[in-house]
Amino acid sequence: MPIHVLPDEVASQIAAGEVVERPASVVKELLENSLDAGASYIAIQVEKAGQRLIEVKDDGCGIPKEELHLCIARYATSKLQTAQDLLHIETLGFRGEALSSIGSVSRMTITSRTPEQDSGAMLLVDGGKVNPIQLIGTPIGTVVRVEDLFYNLPARRKFLKKPVTERRHIDDVVTHYALAYPHVRIHLLQEGDYSLQTSGNGDQREVLAALYGVDIARQMLEVWEESEKLKISGFVSPTSVTRSNRQGISFFVNGRWIKDITLATALIQAYHTLLMVGRYPLAVLFLELPHELVDINVHPTKAEVRFQDRDRLFKDVRRTVRRALLAHSPLPGMEGSTGLRWVSPPILDGYPSGLGWQPPEGITDGIPPAGTPSDSQPSFVKSEAQASLLTSGVPLLRLLGQIGATYLVAEGPDGLYLIDQHSAHERILYERFMNRRGEKVPSQQMLQPVSVELSPGEARLLEDYLPVLEKLGFGVEPFGHHAFIVRSIPALLEGMNPTAALRVVIEDFEEDETPLKDEVEARIVARVCKSAAVKAGQVLSPEEQRGLLRDLEACEAPRTCPHGRPTMIHLPVDLLSKQFKRRG
Ligand code: ADP
Ligand code: MG
Repeated sequence: MPIHVLPDEVASQIAAGEVVERPASVVKELLENSLDAGASYIAIQVEKAGQRLIEVKDDGCGIPKEELHLCIARYATSKLQTAQDLLHIETLGFRGEALSSIGSVSRMTITSRTPEQDSGAMLLVDGGKVNPIQLIGTPIGTVVRVEDLFYNLPARRKFLKKPVTERRHIDDVVTHYALAYPHVRIHLLQEGDYSLQTSGNGDQREVLAALYGVDIARQMLEVWEESEKLKISGFVSPTSVTRSNRQGISFFVNGRWIKDITLATALIQAYHTLLMVGRYPLAVLFLELPHELVDINVHPTKAEVRFQDRDRLFKDVRRTVRRALLAHSPLPGMEGSTGLRWVSPPILDGYPSGLGWQPPEGITDGIPPAGTPSDSQPSFVKSEAQASLLTSGVPLLRLLGQIGATYLVAEGPDGLYLIDQHSAHERILYERFMNRRGEKVPSQQMLQPVSVELSPGEARLLEDYLPVLEKLGFGVEPFGHHAFIVRSIPALLEGMNPTAALRVVIEDFEEDETPLKDEVEARIVARVCKSAAVKAGQVLSPEEQRGLLRDLEACEAPRTCPHGRPTMIHLPVDLLSKQFKRRG
């Protein structure tokens, strides 16, 4: 084929591929335009997870009739004149690509009117084909309606995730912008249901509740530090509020929500030694720095930026957050010379419940960092060799005691056993649950039903899993706006904080990956058991220790926890003799 310049239509579809990855990208671009237009009220409406309709309406400056045909041309913008301007961009948009891209992969209608004009105008673009402009009476501001997204790009349509996931991405985008622009009233209507409504009164904590749920929003610590060239503000979680992944961490640079691994790492380092291994903080941090020190012209989605002095910024973020943490919460491990805080835990089912307790510095409950194979891939399916090892039981054990408030020491007919109390208890709880699969799991009524408020995204997830939860003995019902009422929890978890139990369930499913149907139950059970199990660092009474051993002996696969980590180390008598040079 000879070289030829691609027809405009093809070129714009290629360009659109970069800007419009999924429905949430359309929402992001339109929302940015409305914010750039100085809107004080933005109403967003979404149908069929954005595939049927995305409509963004604002009361901003509008587009003059004479310019309407221009805004849908590629590289047409009112926000930039010269290359020089690229050095200090103050608007969210500047590439002039969004409307032309969206118009080439959907049926898009733009209706707009400026305050100076008596009537407005409307323009329809259908898969890149521009229709004549019509004059029309309309309020001041702009409405962009995007219908049948990707109707002419079946390949892209096929790659979209489940509607629930796409809706979550949309929630995420809108909630983040609402946080960065608390003075703008923003409403998001998804499938006829308001998933976000901010008042525009400037109160960031109000929006924070939409992101994390009311309970957590209330606990978030405020960060504020201002120097000549950098202002850092926002919220970070106290050490008692954590997640199993980094998804609760967001950064904004000059009002733009960006993804940046370096900044996230700086934040996590600020929590060094304050969090258990594998746990991550939540944070929303706003950085403001002179425009010329940030290059935002890196990628069509404008989600990545380059900093002139990244190292400096890294240190500033880490120091500021660390300072805020220390100001709000004393370092653990200060109470005793050993750094251990001895607590007498409440008794649950013969064992301490342990929930809500934070292990002191240096003590972890053995959860490997997220991303390690055992964490990201629960090992319910085992190879044959592993299976035989797993099912080999343990002999009767004689308890000798507990060491380091973490391990039990026991003697068996064939040597010494060191048992990790946390993973052993996890295994016991897990088998009790799974053995009752199919039967009705006994549940424990709460004396007082407890209401739990979640963020819209979390609420959607939880709703998906309500049938599974019911089978496991949870009595949970939706209770209005992203709230749930917990009436009962599985009897096995008696004494456990119901809010914590529910959070644990959704946390595991935050990743996009949707597990297979029959894996869901096992994963939820494993997850709940992990939280309910005694933690490392908890002192157990001799009765509790003996009970734990007895129950472990009765397990079908006592040698590993449900996530596949060992519950015990065995030192055979032979090995001891060898080590002590008693025998060859
Ligand atoms: P960019 O935002 O990068 O300039 P867009 O394709 O998103 O590019 O928009 C093109 C132009 O259309 C903008 O520069 C702006 O002048 C105008 N525009 C788009 N949306 C709105 C809106 N909601 N209100 C006012 N003007 C708008
Ligand atoms: Mg734009």
